[in-house]
Amino acid sequence: MKEQARQARADSRIIIGLVPTMGALHAGHLSLIERARRECSPVIASIFVNPKQFGPNEDFSKYPRTFESDSEKLQRAGVDALFAPGPAEIYPNGFSTYVNVDGLSDRLEGRSRPGHFRGVTTVVMKLLQIVQPNFAYFGRKDAQQSRLVAQMARDLNLDTKIVVCPAVREPDGLALSSRNVYLNAEERQAATVLYRALETAKSELAAGVRDALQLQTSLRRKLDSERLAKVDYAEIVDAETFEPVLHVRKACYVLLAVFIGKTRLIDNLYIEPKSPNSEELVFHF
Ligand code: AMP
Repeated sequence: MKEQARQARADSRIIIGLVPTMGALHAGHLSLIERARRECSPVIASIFVNPKQFGPNEDFSKYPRTFESDSEKLQRAGVDALFAPGPAEIYPNGFSTYVNVDGLSDRLEGRSRPGHFRGVTTVVMKLLQIVQPNFAYFGRKDAQQSRLVAQMARDLNLDTKIVVCPAVREPDGLALSSRNVYLNAEERQAATVLYRALETAKSELAAGVRDALQLQTSLRRKLDSERLAKVDYAEIVDAETFEPVLHVRKACYVLLAVFIGKTRLIDNLYIEPKSPNSEELVFHF
């Protein structure tokens, strides 16, 4: 992979795009590839189910692995190369260097999943070192992850520009996720509660509510109304720092992590002022 990427880079007119994934590809992943294809050539996709970002009691062993159909999808999507290393290539015996973004990686997802983001930033750093792309594409569905990767790129002076792309959803609002296959029919129905809760927050914000506590109370009420849902967190945070806010004034996220049965789902709503000093807000699901 390094040799192929090095050869591509030797022609300075070439712009390399990288789309890192864990496979089990869906339309969300493909939207990143489409975006990359508009801005880069060649586009490289990677598939690596990264053991270091799963906790000991998480779903590493049962995470869906659908390599054959993934590689067909990537071919049809016009990807130029697929990089699918094995765990021993990425983490040979004696591997002992990690990348961690302090602070940001301890909150929210990081608090619920200790060590998760250290695994993410370490593997993303390695993928960026191997491919050295001009652009790398991430989904805003994983808002905190995208923010962390952008912070890492800035802090470590990486030459890759991190591009964050909108979430792709099912027609009923459920954000596409490789983990949605874990849901049975009843849970699949219940899982729409995340989107419905975000819609509630949006309506209140659009009606002028800015108090985070009030918004959070409505979010909770909505989420608790779903029998199969168990809330891990439902927070309104500053989009830069991911610290909780008291009032929605600048760019913020409404962040949700909810268990539907045994499956943990995350989703978010990104909110920003329409223009720098505007009271009016724009919403991005
Ligand atoms: P994953 O395979 O889950 O690690 O995801 C690989 C990339 O796809 C990450 O940057 C995710 O944020 C992104 N992604 C996952 N789900 C979606 C979605 N529904 N819409 C857009 N991007 C997504």
